[in-house]
Amino acid sequence: MGIATVNPATGETLKNFEPLNDQEIAQKLDQAQKTFEQYRYIPIAQKAEWMNAAATLLVDRREEFGKIMALEVGKPIASAIAEAEKSAWVCRYYAENAAQFLANVPIETDASRSFVSYQPIGVVLAVMPWNFPFWQVFRFAAPALMAGNVGLLKHASNVPQCALAIEEIFREAGFPTGAFQTLLVGSDKVAQIVTDERVKAATLTGSEPAGASLASLAGKLIKKTVLELGGSDPFIVLESADLETAVSTAVTARMINSGQSCIAAKRFIVQEAIADQFTEKLVAKYAALKVGDPMNPETDIGPLATPGILKDLDQLVQTCIEKGAKALIGGNPQDVLTRSVVAFQHGNFYPPTILADFPPGTPADDEEFFGPVALLFRVPDIDAAIRLANSSPFGLGASAWTGIQEEGNRLATELEAGAVFINGMVKSDPRLPFGGVKRSGYGRELGIQGIHEFVNIKTVWMK
Ligand code: NAP
Repeated sequence: MGIATVNPATGETLKNFEPLNDQEIAQKLDQAQKTFEQYRYIPIAQKAEWMNAAATLLVDRREEFGKIMALEVGKPIASAIAEAEKSAWVCRYYAENAAQFLANVPIETDASRSFVSYQPIGVVLAVMPWNFPFWQVFRFAAPALMAGNVGLLKHASNVPQCALAIEEIFREAGFPTGAFQTLLVGSDKVAQIVTDERVKAATLTGSEPAGASLASLAGKLIKKTVLELGGSDPFIVLESADLETAVSTAVTARMINSGQSCIAAKRFIVQEAIADQFTEKLVAKYAALKVGDPMNPETDIGPLATPGILKDLDQLVQTCIEKGAKALIGGNPQDVLTRSVVAFQHGNFYPPTILADFPPGTPADDEEFFGPVALLFRVPDIDAAIRLANSSPFGLGASAWTGIQEEGNRLATELEAGAVFINGMVKSDPRLPFGGVKRSGYGRELGIQGIHEFVNIKTVWMK
C-alpha cells in the first residue's frame, strides 16, 4: 500500500503522496541530529512556551484538524474535534510539569553532594498508528520534546495529511525545524531508520508483529524501545454492580472510535445472575446506534479505517460463528443501513455486533477484535471472572463493575493489566501512566513515568 489519503466512507483515493527517498531520509536524520545538539540546551521555560503555543494552535484550529482526521480514518467528526482538544491537554500538561519531573533529585550518600539528573538522549523515532492519529503522536512528542529530545515521526501510511499537519503545528508553535519532523515513508523503511546510529531510541504503537520487528532490530543495537501494542480488555460486571451505568458505559467503552481502540472494552464478562438482563439491555442499545457518514455529527459509528481492517475483523467474526458462537446482533457486514446510500456503497462499514456462547478454541480466546464487536461471556462468580480475564495473552486495561469494595480491591490487585478501572471505563489521561503488560507491550507513556522513558537517568556523585 502506498502513502495516500483514501476516504474510508467512500473508498475514494483523494490524494497520493510520494515517499521520501534515501537521500531525503538521510537529510532529515542529519537535521535531527544537528538540531538536537543545540536544542537540548534551550531552557525548559522556552520549550514550555513553544509547547503551550502548540496547544493553542490545536484548540484554535480543532475543527480543521478534526476534519482531516475524519477524512483520513473515518472518525466521527465530534470525536475527531475532541481528539485535537485532548492533544492540546497533553501539551499543556507537560509544558506545566516537565521542569518538576526533570528536576535533579538529591540523594544522601557518602558524597558531599549526590543526585539523580535527567538528561535527553537524542533523536527518538516514533512509529505510530492511524486510530488516534493526533493523540498518539502528541502523547509521545510532548514529553519527548520537553525532555530535550528531538522526534522523528513515521506515521501510518493512511494518515499522511495528519502527519504533515502535526509537523506544521510544532513548526508554527516556534520549535526549531529539526525538533520534530515527519518522515513520509512506508514500514519497509523503518529497519533502516531505527538502525541508523543517529537514532538513539524508538517507540511503536501498533500491532504485535510491527512491535516485535522494531524491538528486535533495536535490541540488537542495544537501543531502548517502548511498545504500546494491542489489547483484548475485559469489562467485568458482577452481580452487585449498578447495572444501568455498567451497560451504558459498556457501549461507550466498546464503541469508542468505531471500536478501533487498543483500550476499548472487548470481552464482556458478566456474572450469571445478571447476565440475561445485561445482555437484553446491551442488545437494545446496540440496535439504536447510528452507523454512517463520519462527517454527520449525529453518527455514532463511522466506517473502519481501511478495507484490510474490515476484512480481518469479519474473518474473526465468521470463524467464531462457524465454530458455534451466536451473533445476538450484527455479524454480517452486508447488514449496514448505510449501504442503501449510493455514496457509501464502497465504504468500510461494519454493523455493531455482539457474539456470545463461545465453544472453546475460537479467536475470542486470544485475538484482538479491532472494530465494533463485543464478545460476551457468562461466569458464575468473581473467581471465574478473574480467571477468564487473565487467560488472555494481552494485558492493557481492565474495567470492572461491583458495588462491593472488597471485590473492587481484589479486582484491582489480581487483574493482569497495565491499568484497572473500577466502576469506570478505561481511558487515557495525561496525568496517569499508560501502557501494558504481557503481549500488550512494555514501557509507559504519560504521567511522570512517560517523560522518564527517553532520558538518561544519570547518577552524579561529587566529593
Ligand atoms: P500496525 O499495522 O502495526 O501499524 C502501526 C504502525 O507501524 C504504522 O505506522 C505502520 O506503518 C507501522 N508498521 C507496520 N508494520 C511494521 C513493521 N513490520 N515494522 C515497522 N513498522 C511497521 O498497526 P495497525 O493495525 O495500523 O494499528 C492497530 C493496532 O495498534 C492494534 O493492535 C491496536 O490495539 C494497536 N494500538 C495500541 C495502542 C496502545 O497504546 N497500546 C494504541 C493504539 C493502537 P504502515 O502504516 O506504513 O504499515
